[in-house]
Amino acid sequence: MAQKGEFDIIREFFQRPVADAGVHLGIGDDAALLAVPAGHELVVSTDTLVAGRHFPEATAPFDIGWKALAVNLSDLAAMGARARWVTLALTLPDSDEDFLREFSRGLFALAEREQVSLVGGDTTRGPLALTVTALGDVPLGAALKRSGARVGDDLYVSGTVGDAGLGLRLELGQWLDEIAPAAAEFALQRLRRPEPRLGLGFALRGVATACLDVSDGLAQDLGHLLAASRTGAVLELDWLPRSAALAGIEPAFADVLALTSGDDYELLFTAPPSARERLAALPVTRIGRMTEVPGLQLWRGGNPVEMPVAGFTHF
Ligand SMILES: [Mg+2]
Repeated sequence: MAQKGEFDIIREFFQRPVADAGVHLGIGDDAALLAVPAGHELVVSTDTLVAGRHFPEATAPFDIGWKALAVNLSDLAAMGARARWVTLALTLPDSDEDFLREFSRGLFALAEREQVSLVGGDTTRGPLALTVTALGDVPLGAALKRSGARVGDDLYVSGTVGDAGLGLRLELGQWLDEIAPAAAEFALQRLRRPEPRLGLGFALRGVATACLDVSDGLAQDLGHLLAASRTGAVLELDWLPRSAALAGIEPAFADVLALTSGDDYELLFTAPPSARERLAALPVTRIGRMTEVPGLQLWRGGNPVEMPVAGFTHF
């Protein structure tokens, strides 16, 4: 089979009609021309995924496409932004058409659902790697940052945490005997097809005082929020929202997964207690509060407990 050139690849797999008045010029010129509405800021986030490092070599191409976009949209969600545009730099070992077809299907499945337009990109030859840059907009001054948490604020997380971590263990062939098939399927889905919480990020504008997405593990990402906001936090372990899949494993391991495993792409945020009623309508769980005492304290039933993380860092 003849190797496809760069332009053929782009035309066949990545050029789609764009229905966005803000795209003055999309794929096909030297650069895209994009219009941000008056009174808004451009929000930009980029992430690189390398095969064998950020996803197993054997990952289904559809899932690679989906996830490469999802992790970037998750960053826009964490800023409270509206996701609008995306560029893709794709490094491929060869122009494998089956891969490209499935990869672009996965990418566009999410992009079209979220009404995000692919407006540019690049393809090069080399070991499989993808860089996605997501662009969005947010009204001036309305973006959610990591730095706004105040002492006395409540701490929340969306959805459930630890599922993708369980999925990764299953993918590595661990714990297969202990997990029911439906739970395993759920955990693998959470790992492979993360859901960017764009609608939630939107809803948190004007409510959350600080926000980020959980990509590296709740404890670690919370550390970034604490550092940026110069506060500490008390986190009640028993309040951590866990899926039924996580309920099926030993509680000590479930704690570790919920606190340290990455890839859940939930939103972690703070809000004043006066916002509790408003937040009750959203898929979020209050898990603690912000303190003057620096650092992260884990509590169980109102009492401090040892960090279960330390002994498990390379587990
Ligand atoms: Mg992030």
